[in-house]
Amino acid sequence: MRGVFSSHLIKPCAGFLLLLYSLLCWPAERDTRTLLADYIHLDTSNPPGNEALGAAFFAEIFAAHDIEHEIIEVAPGRANIWARLPGGDQPALLLLHHMDVVPADASRWQRPPFGGELDSAYLHGRGALDNKSLGIFHLQAMLALKAQHKTLKRDLIFLATADEEAGGKYGVGWLMHKRPELFGHIGAVLNEGGRGDVREGRLRFGIEVTQKLPLWLRVSASGAPGHGAIPRIDSASQRLIRALAKLEQFEFSPQLLPGVKSYLNKLASDLPAPWHKRLLNVEVLLDSPRQMAELHAFDRRLYAQLHSTCAITRLQASDKINVVAPQAWAELDCRLLPNHKPEQALQSIKAALDDESLELTSLLSFGPGISSPDNFLYRALEQNLAARFPQASIVPRMAAGFTDSHYFREKGIPAYGFIPLILDAEQMTGVHGDNEKISLENLRFGSDFLRELVAQVCLDEA
Ligand SMILES: [Zn+2]
Repeated sequence: MRGVFSSHLIKPCAGFLLLLYSLLCWPAERDTRTLLADYIHLDTSNPPGNEALGAAFFAEIFAAHDIEHEIIEVAPGRANIWARLPGGDQPALLLLHHMDVVPADASRWQRPPFGGELDSAYLHGRGALDNKSLGIFHLQAMLALKAQHKTLKRDLIFLATADEEAGGKYGVGWLMHKRPELFGHIGAVLNEGGRGDVREGRLRFGIEVTQKLPLWLRVSASGAPGHGAIPRIDSASQRLIRALAKLEQFEFSPQLLPGVKSYLNKLASDLPAPWHKRLLNVEVLLDSPRQMAELHAFDRRLYAQLHSTCAITRLQASDKINVVAPQAWAELDCRLLPNHKPEQALQSIKAALDDESLELTSLLSFGPGISSPDNFLYRALEQNLAARFPQASIVPRMAAGFTDSHYFREKGIPAYGFIPLILDAEQMTGVHGDNEKISLENLRFGSDFLRELVAQVCLDEA
């Protein structure tokens, strides 16, 4: 309806026109843009989260459409919402997204982060990409299916969760532990993770089937405290620094997982020389330390596909310049390949640090999990993408970061990461960064794609 009311008309009789508009349009559905803008208006920055706002937003829509749903509150202000369209015996499709977003510093944004403002090409706001748009696509796919009044061959489940950005303790982690019956007969989970991107002018879609496993560690050293004016040779800080310097020289040996090999092989055609040839012969690349070092310089994301890694991210010792602290610690963000056992990695890290007196504490560690592409949802994703974009390559991929999908994979429930968006590098900077926005073209594509996909996967005759 944009453009119907010009501003000079609205001013004198805005009240009357708005009333007329609501009468004429009621009970018209809110479109994708309006729904997403309304969702972005809810400030679900984590911390503190306040996902109960999002749960109430969805509950109102489900109630209006007579869809079975439940708000599951796990702490004050922290809530999840579950909804279901019942179907036949085939294992259910679960549509998963998280309602929390990372905080936004408004002073660094060109538009208000929770304004949901629209211009001619983009809708702006925190969560526009990560991942409130996915939630709206899921919602619309469910409403569209409900409106068809047809028999479904499987349950369609919608789940919007809290706390993904802080690890999922109040979200999927809590639900898996306290409400396992919600996950009884799930055939596949569709979550965030993969997407479409354009590299060297070629379109490629990655469907995330596994992710690196975080192994977060704290390394602590202790020693006698003292005055900074009379230094020791074995203070906690010194021992920690020496050990970390040794760890910096250490690298896990490269490994080629079958899924990564096919990913790199398919990617090869998009890359310039000499990477085109090298990625077709990954085994040779792996055997050559020189080529591996060049790969690290060329593209550290590709390098991380072949290695478990450790980054030293936090350091602390004395809080006074003239005090030698009795304690010093560092935190390591290690990311393991999905077949790398955390206990084995821990042994290698201990050996590299080479100081028996250091204490190692595990802060976070996940079990391994890979979802097979041999699944109804993966096949449907692949078919639908191929039909729309015959020229694009479609590849299963391993994510370097992690999402809530690991909770499912650890339980043997297949989970696939895919948001139907095609993003360039500039748009990606908004994810966890400033000026997050989604193009109107992507909004149309994502909404249409999810509607078709879900109907195809759930309808009996499809
Ligand atoms: Zn996310």
